[in-house]
Amino acid sequence: MSTTLTLKTAAELRTTHLRQEMFPTIFCDGCGLGNVLNYTLWAVEQVGLDLDRTVFVSGIGCSSRLTGYVNADGMHTTHGRALSFATGIKAANPDLNVIVFTGDGDGSGIGGNHLLHTIRRNMDLTVILVNNFTYGMTGGQSAPTSPTGSFSPTTPYGNVEHPLDICELAQALGAPYVARWPVSVPSQPIKSIAQGISKRGFSLIEMMAPCPTAYGRRNGLRGIEPNWQWYRDHTVLVDEYERVEQFGSPEERAALRDKMKIGVFQDIERESFGDRWAALVDRVKL
Ligand code: SF4
Repeated sequence: MSTTLTLKTAAELRTTHLRQEMFPTIFCDGCGLGNVLNYTLWAVEQVGLDLDRTVFVSGIGCSSRLTGYVNADGMHTTHGRALSFATGIKAANPDLNVIVFTGDGDGSGIGGNHLLHTIRRNMDLTVILVNNFTYGMTGGQSAPTSPTGSFSPTTPYGNVEHPLDICELAQALGAPYVARWPVSVPSQPIKSIAQGISKRGFSLIEMMAPCPTAYGRRNGLRGIEPNWQWYRDHTVLVDEYERVEQFGSPEERAALRDKMKIGVFQDIERESFGDRWAALVDRVKL
């Protein structure tokens, strides 16, 4: 049975879910952060989330500015520490929905250790991690996710490191919901963010979003179209990736080296921190 996704228009969402006084945004032309914001609000709409019972938390960076545009309570915190603040909010008031906006630099570089331990605890949070391969706001330095060979002010002759696969890390740590999509495909991210919000425990939705200014101009990806073409050329659905890895020809397997897997990597049930804490409180009558 097929289901049809009925969405409010961006203009309708802007009226109901965004702070009018914060516009225009700080985002550059062609930046993917507006798409991420729209997809999140459409997902919020889809699951019928009460914004009066929802807190948006972020760290530092361009993506962390997203919290300020949403017409809900929010905390714009310190670099790499969004998950710590979000953990405190959720632990203090488990009835609140807590959604975190972070970037690849903020969430997996500066805040990498917090990412590990928040997933290990299985805090009931929805984390939307925007991966644009760079520290955009601070000048475009190389990030843990920057592709090998990419150029930045800190890697002027090309990055020699291997990029971190944040989804594989989250999957290995047992996060109940893990997905990655580029912003160029709207319906899948909306569905994944909605599933992440509905999931009990830690959800990670990695959004690949262009940064034409800090990353793109040094890597031949200025403007929207080259970025969206890059996603078409360099991503492959996880099922297809696994099929080729297992049954593909040597040439097909070699072609996977340049590709990032996209799709839903993990969708499981696992006792959350909140579940275990409630059981403890009940047992010792705190
Ligand atoms: S610097 Fe990059 S990530 Fe930041 S607003 Fe501009 S395009 Fe977007």
